[in-house]
Amino acid sequence: MAPRAQGELQLGGLPRPLVRLTPAKLTTWTGCRRRYRMAYLDRPALPRGGAWAHNTLGAVVHTAMRALFDLAPGRRQSHAAAALVATHWSGEGFADNAQAADYRSRAQDWVVRYVDELDPDLEPVGVERWVSAPTQRIVAEGRVDRIDERDGELVVVDYKTGRHELTVDDVRGSQALALYAFAARRTLRRECRRVELHHLPTGTVAGWEHTEQSLGRHLQRAEEAADEIALATDTLATGGNPEILFPPTPGRACSWCDFRRHCPEGRASAPELRPWALLAP
Ligand code: SF4
Repeated sequence: MAPRAQGELQLGGLPRPLVRLTPAKLTTWTGCRRRYRMAYLDRPALPRGGAWAHNTLGAVVHTAMRALFDLAPGRRQSHAAAALVATHWSGEGFADNAQAADYRSRAQDWVVRYVDELDPDLEPVGVERWVSAPTQRIVAEGRVDRIDERDGELVVVDYKTGRHELTVDDVRGSQALALYAFAARRTLRRECRRVELHHLPTGTVAGWEHTEQSLGRHLQRAEEAADEIALATDTLATGGNPEILFPPTPGRACSWCDFRRHCPEGRASAPELRPWALLAP
């Protein structure tokens, strides 16, 4: 991908500042603009729904993996990872103590298997590393779960704990991973083409090697989204109608949207789920 110079986009003859774009913002905008407005623009911030058990599970596993790499290399063993899951455990969102204990035990099994299969000499370049890089129209930024180095190049590693195993198509199509690769490359000043999803429940890895063209396509789509975000946000700030600028996108995702309680269209379009409904069976 040809490097782009930092600058500003001319919109209606006026330059606009670069849009800071994290993968989470981009995903939210792409999924539902009303949700984007409620999450990032409405002030005071609207109260969100309660905790989801699957999110709690994912957060604990991520925290345990980060803490594992805080240990001295010789102590990064599977039993230490299991202990860290217990240390950082939370029962938020689970049906009861028995269900929480079941999933805590599952999470410990996942990290034990995962760590047993890691290269014992692995020393990541970054763990939960913040990366950031400007293009002409956006600042792509975010926190990467892990950045490895292999054969002189950086590899973006994203942990996943969801119900379904990930495929190569998931990795190739992930805008988040592409933004991370671009930002990691510029932040750490080393080549970064490979991105990977590590699915801990199944112990599988789905990877993809980006080309300059595929990274460029992802970046272009992100910049186009940023233009739309900037236009809608600026128009809202000058008195635009939020319902027109940020329309709802009712669908299945309304079942687990944090802003469902504030959204009549969302409530009408999908059933309410119990907080533990999205755990793997
Ligand atoms: S409930 Fe659905 S339509 Fe409403 S904000 Fe959430 S995702 Fe959008």
